[in-house]
Amino acid sequence: MGYSQQDAQEFLRYLLEGLHEDVNRVTTRPKPILTEIDDNLSDTAKANEAWSRYVRMEDSRVGDIFMGQLKSTLRCTHCKHDSVTFDPFWDLSLPIPSRTGNLKLQQCLQHFVREEELDGDEKPTCSKCGVRRKCLKWFTVQKFPKVLVLHLKRFSPTERFRGKLNVLVEFPLNGLDMSPLSANNTTATYNLYALSNHSGTTYSGHYTAYCKHPYSGDWHEYNDSRRTCCSTNWLTTPSRPSRLHNGTTTEQRRRRGVQNTRADCCRYTNMRHDLM
Ligand SMILES: [Zn+2]
Repeated sequence: MGYSQQDAQEFLRYLLEGLHEDVNRVTTRPKPILTEIDDNLSDTAKANEAWSRYVRMEDSRVGDIFMGQLKSTLRCTHCKHDSVTFDPFWDLSLPIPSRTGNLKLQQCLQHFVREEELDGDEKPTCSKCGVRRKCLKWFTVQKFPKVLVLHLKRFSPTERFRGKLNVLVEFPLNGLDMSPLSANNTTATYNLYALSNHSGTTYSGHYTAYCKHPYSGDWHEYNDSRRTCCSTNWLTTPSRPSRLHNGTTTEQRRRRGVQNTRADCCRYTNMRHDLM
């Protein structure tokens, strides 16, 4: 990767996929199954079939930890038929639905699973009607990973030329409830254990990371070769680029200096259980 500028999310994906490839339990790839999954199956059966087709080719300890399954639903507005597809994911890239003010992470999550209307040139072909129809499309999570990586799209392609989205996004340290995104009413709660922050502009910047120690529970800041201990209170001080808050002080978030210290949090990782 040399000295060129890299995006933290792209790098993490590159790293995870590389590690996954190296420890893939499937050493001789079988022929891929190219037939469509039977449309008459239940959604759960379709999801299971899609998953087993995936792990038939891609099966590793890295995937066991980080891989989830996303459900995409396309509903024909004419005949109401739902056509569903299931895809594995390493991380979820969340839109930031505002250019100003403060947001909560939950608002980004809600925006991610919102219904989108596909009309005009985007009209898909309904598999039941057999012609192009106006459809509604939305995402839900079929299978939650053990470690969930969330990426905030501060540099979405359409925003790249307009600069970075510096909106402050607040998120819980513990008990992030992902259940509203579940496709099948699964309960999923995550605790934060690491995040990376980007400071700078679209064209150049610097990444720092915060991680929670697996045994002591202490937080550490990683900045190039420097490692510093920090408490969650320290993490919430306004002079720092990150804006973390914990459950006990949810209503007492420190807001002083917010104008000058917009969160640069670009990607962070949550865990269902405290720590591995
Ligand atoms: Zn239809």
